[in-house]
Amino acid sequence: MSQPQNVIALVYDYDKTLSPLHMQEDVIFEKIGVDSKEFWDRVDHLASDKTYESDLAWIRLLLDNLFFRNLSNSDLSKMGKELNFFPGIPKIFEELDSILSDEKFVRHGITLEHYIVTSGLQAVLAGSGLAKYVKRIFGCEFDEDGQGKVYWPKRIISHTAKTQYLFRITKGFEYMNFEKDVNDHVPEIERRIPFRNMLYIGDGPTDVPCFSVITSRGGKALAVYDASSKHSFETCMSLRAAQRVDEIAEADYRRGTHLRRIIEYIVYRMAEQIVAHQEMEHDSRVIHAPKHG
Ligand SMILES: [Mg+2]
Repeated sequence: MSQPQNVIALVYDYDKTLSPLHMQEDVIFEKIGVDSKEFWDRVDHLASDKTYESDLAWIRLLLDNLFFRNLSNSDLSKMGKELNFFPGIPKIFEELDSILSDEKFVRHGITLEHYIVTSGLQAVLAGSGLAKYVKRIFGCEFDEDGQGKVYWPKRIISHTAKTQYLFRITKGFEYMNFEKDVNDHVPEIERRIPFRNMLYIGDGPTDVPCFSVITSRGGKALAVYDASSKHSFETCMSLRAAQRVDEIAEADYRRGTHLRRIIEYIVYRMAEQIVAHQEMEHDSRVIHAPKHG
């Protein structure tokens, strides 16, 4: 049976998209006695001198740290409570639903879902104030040893691997169900959330693979910048110049801001498109009664 395809998905990167800092700098480094600059310099060295992938480099350096090795996943989740977000987060997650309160959208059962796809740590976000608003958080995960301490990464989500999770969302395979291979072919009409109903929000070059997957398949992409950083703004300008994203805006998600207006506009247009699509589908299936003549 074909899917109703009346769900709109907002998919967010986390570091520097929803938060001004990387989660490691925000809540982890201080607790494990790590200097941020030194840490990222060592990551860069592992990447340049030993050709590490950068996500494997930072995970290795965390696991080399004895304080970190003494943590459990639930300790990481507790740190998540202290995360700082850009203005308007997480309130926007609740407030956006009002866009879909128009009678025509309610009649078509249109709903909004939020997802986070991050190269950071899933356990930290799972304990944060964002968790209750988002349907799924995809991020790197650690397995625990017999003493309940983190000891090995069981899932690493590199920048390119992030796109896999967009395919999981579109196909409705968002749970780690290994009976459902993300590479299974699912025809367009069987997809739970077609890409045209998806908006991806990111902040930089690490989001380029996701921007490309989304925009080449009819979805929308936004890049946000930290207004206090010239570098962040210029990164967004170059993403737009290269036509990687539809729009850029300052990362301020509060009501009435430029970013908020763009998000609301896109969600509203997507909802209108769903209505138009469903009505067209319905008309094409109706067999009209013969007219009396
Ligand atoms: Mg980011």
